[in-house]
Amino acid sequence: MPLKLVIFDLDGTLLVTPLDFDRIRTEIGLPEGVPILEAIDGLTDAERARANRVIDRHEAEAADESQLMPGAEDLLAWLRSRGIKVAVLTRNSRASVERAVLRHNLVFDAAVAREDNKPKPSPAGVHCLMEACDAGPAETIIVGDFRFDVEAGRSAGVRTIALVAEPTDWSDAATWQAATLQDVHAILERIAAKA
Ligand SMILES: [Mg+2]
Repeated sequence: MPLKLVIFDLDGTLLVTPLDFDRIRTEIGLPEGVPILEAIDGLTDAERARANRVIDRHEAEAADESQLMPGAEDLLAWLRSRGIKVAVLTRNSRASVERAVLRHNLVFDAAVAREDNKPKPSPAGVHCLMEACDAGPAETIIVGDFRFDVEAGRSAGVRTIALVAEPTDWSDAATWQAATLQDVHAILERIAAKA
């Protein structure tokens, strides 16, 4: 099967962002460690609106200060040169994706943000991106630095690359583990050469 589509997470994968989830939780008044989007679902409308404003502000600041992850530029250019489509699946807002795209001159064939579909770990966004890019599960790989990236990919039946400095309690569920985007690049080159 040819490799047709690579789906990337944004924060911590393509971008180094100073997004401080602990500070966001504290400002909203959420307990330590809970997944933010799921936790605010349980709030009243007024509380949720306030919480969304806190998240939007943090995401906007983080996107404005973000840096490209080392190796991202080369990897994206290589995928483009091979005609492999590149998509983004993030739990952030569409506005923060657009800020990052402008700041770093990124080109994506498709992007799904939190307004667009049920957030990861739901596989809904993966399905949506495969349809938009005309790729099947066997032709698609998802790359991300958090357990939700791997869970979303596995639920959609696509191969997964966990981008982790060292193996963690969730990363061995991924098809491959990579410490850097250069390692991701090497894995994808091997796959593309075999196809
Ligand atoms: Mg991430």
